[in-house]
Amino acid sequence: LPIEFEEARPIMRAIEDAGYEAYFVGGSVRDTILGHAIHDVDIATSAYPEEIKKIFNHTVDTGIEHGTVMILDHGEGYETTTFRTESGYQDFRRPDEVTFVRSLKEDLKRRDFTINALAMRENGEVIDLFNGLDDLDNHIIRTVGEAYERFHEDALRMMRAVRFAGQLNFKIEQKTLLGITENASLLEKIAVERIRVELEKLCMGQYVQLGMKPFVTTKLYQYCPEMIPYYDVLSRLSNTSIPELKSDTEVWSFITYAIELNGSDCSHFLKAWKTSNQVISDVLTIHDVINAIMTNKLDEMVIYQAGLERSLVAQKLSVFFEGNVTANVIKEIAAALPIKSKSDLKVDGGQLIKQLGIKPGPLVGKLLVILENQVVRGILTNDEATLIKFATQIAAEEG
Ligand code: ATP
Ligand code: MG
Repeated sequence: LPIEFEEARPIMRAIEDAGYEAYFVGGSVRDTILGHAIHDVDIATSAYPEEIKKIFNHTVDTGIEHGTVMILDHGEGYETTTFRTESGYQDFRRPDEVTFVRSLKEDLKRRDFTINALAMRENGEVIDLFNGLDDLDNHIIRTVGEAYERFHEDALRMMRAVRFAGQLNFKIEQKTLLGITENASLLEKIAVERIRVELEKLCMGQYVQLGMKPFVTTKLYQYCPEMIPYYDVLSRLSNTSIPELKSDTEVWSFITYAIELNGSDCSHFLKAWKTSNQVISDVLTIHDVINAIMTNKLDEMVIYQAGLERSLVAQKLSVFFEGNVTANVIKEIAAALPIKSKSDLKVDGGQLIKQLGIKPGPLVGKLLVILENQVVRGILTNDEATLIKFATQIAAEEG
């Protein structure tokens, strides 16, 4: 058992000693069986939230209305959720009603895919009521129960299916795939932020093509913001290997470059996807560097403005678009930069005002930009006397 499970065993035993059941459930069980690292340990229990709180001294109500209580133990927090059933789903995304139950089977039945519906006891024994182990073995994504119904209940599950395909190198079973095709339009009912998270996870997966293909063929992409015009590009991405993408910024830089969006069109697209302003700004900066690479205009100023980290991301992505600058070239240019930011300049606005006898105002900013540019390009050395002398000349020319 992974260390995360070992450390949670005393908690599981305490719940059992109080007369209830407790199991590891969800992604951590799936990933453990696959031999992958796990991130969060989810525990499902027959105990009701109030009962959990009687067993443990230190708990936090993190989602008590859904039955989730966090147990604090040796500096760790463990989320335990009472077995529950869900019913209603009139809005295609959320159950109208959540009911706590004592039966593990009922709880596993509401879960999306067989590979996510496994439970594990604290001693490692696996409870497999829906043939999830076979599907894990055979690399298959299959809904628990009838696909059409399960996607109709909650349309986000369709994005989760393609996401898991791209993350795990799994194939979506035929009826499950058909269920997605039949319900794809319901994705419109789902909050963009939730769709975005799944698409980002898909693109950060190791087998992006495997998820991208059903994302396109089932037409799910058509019910995502602003994606309809890009069938050709998305199809191409589902047939070629793409660079390894490690963050949301990398994902969106890649996608928007691939669909040839720039400037305000790019911002508009990303706003439709509700990415953060930071992501938008980073994406535009990374595009500047890729464009410079693609047009042989890469120079110290481009890298200075983007910074090393974003420049390296741009380089990595540019390879896909057949740019031919290596990471080492980027690193060498960055290492040779005389300054890393404006604050490294040996003069500031205050000094310019004092030494040149000029008034505070736009000229000061303008002079600083010119000095910065000249220093970055290696035309001026970054020492006070040189910079003041040059600024004096420019100020005189400007009148
Ligand atoms: P990840 O590795 O990304 O965390 P996960 O499978 O753990 O994957 P979570 O979103 O953390 O995904 O959900 C935990 C578990 O809850 C899932 O494994 C699944 O059993 C259940 N679940 C999550 N979302 C849904 C959903 N939309 N419909 C049904 N069951 C779901
Ligand atoms: Mg999880």
